[in-house]
Amino acid sequence: MTLDPLDRARRIVAHDAGAQAYDAVVPPIVQTSLFTFPTLADMIETYAGRKVRPVYSRVGNPTVRVFEEKMALLEATDDAIGFPSGMAAISGTVLAFVRPGDRIVCVRHVYPDAYRLFETLLKDWNVETVYVDGRDLPAVHAALPGARLLYLESPTSWTMEAHDVGALAALAKRHGALSLIDNSWATPVFQQPVTLGVDLVVHSASKYIGGHSDVVAGVVAGPQAHIDRIRGRIAPYLGAKLAPFEAWLLLRGLRSLPERLRAHEAAALEIARRLAEHPMVSAVHHPGLAGPLPPGLSGTTGLFSFEARAGLDIPAFCDALHLFKLGVSWGGHESLVVPALVTRVQAAGPNSALDFGVPERMIRLHIGLEGAEALWSDLAHAFAKAS
Ligand SMILES: *Cc1c(COP(=O)(O)O)cnc(C)c1O
Repeated sequence: MTLDPLDRARRIVAHDAGAQAYDAVVPPIVQTSLFTFPTLADMIETYAGRKVRPVYSRVGNPTVRVFEEKMALLEATDDAIGFPSGMAAISGTVLAFVRPGDRIVCVRHVYPDAYRLFETLLKDWNVETVYVDGRDLPAVHAALPGARLLYLESPTSWTMEAHDVGALAALAKRHGALSLIDNSWATPVFQQPVTLGVDLVVHSASKYIGGHSDVVAGVVAGPQAHIDRIRGRIAPYLGAKLAPFEAWLLLRGLRSLPERLRAHEAAALEIARRLAEHPMVSAVHHPGLAGPLPPGLSGTTGLFSFEARAGLDIPAFCDALHLFKLGVSWGGHESLVVPALVTRVQAAGPNSALDFGVPERMIRLHIGLEGAEALWSDLAHAFAKAS
């Protein structure tokens, strides 16, 4: 029996859409811009909000949705929205909640481009940001009255100042401010900020969540009402959507996240301890070396910094490294080095004109998955060559 053309055409498209196709162990990449409706009644039910199904990939896509649902579960909260970068997640979330005339209280030494967002675009829109030492609870308490938003990152970029996130979230609540944390460093494996009382969690998924330095992406997670506000007011209009292929790479990254973090943690702690004893090193900034971890943080990852003594030629040190590549991102399999003098050159550039405030002789390391002994030989050799 041969199939009539219509029946054949129907069979060819069967199961094309939908993350459950073929009971596959890996969700398919649903690479489509739009989804069509079987009947007009179905379309009307969907637009009336009585039926939930994908319509158009700017506002929803099944592969992206699988990633969002997993992130909400991992962050122990209701819902999440994927973004095409960590900065899109940060700016989209902040813009959903602040208005001209508002004030933001921000812990000092947040991710430099978040800092520049506050000091350029938001400043132009009459949103003022004040910076406080996040370890100084009385200072945060004093800065909060009247603030719309408390912006957190723990540990902070470069200086690695680690905070009592629960205590900071409680202060925000007392003053009626929304709290938002950048959780890229710890990931939900080591810190679930919503369980500590924080309202919203953002990630650069380009770092540990992706984990292989092959995707730029971001995500925000939080309670339904807050996520609905971002989904309603920001996501469709700014149009900053996560692509299905990127979401699929992130789903792959998530599967090995806990195991990768264990390896980053062990190797970074070992290197940090050895650096602390090295004669050319004056200080190591690693949350795991400064006594007990703050409450709510259950582990450490691969990114930290140290300060070199005057006897070390920092450019020669960086250039003598082989396993550590010179580069700014982190969270992948590869080890990376970047000296603070790069942030100073950038701060003098046309688009920032802002000194981020990193100590001059600071060097940041990301400890990848090459193994502590190999990485230590590389560092020891570079110290010897540059001293
Ligand atoms: C990289 C990074 C970001 C920005 O993320 P992108 O994905 O590069 O936009 C935000 N916060 C932290 C802590 C980061 O390291």
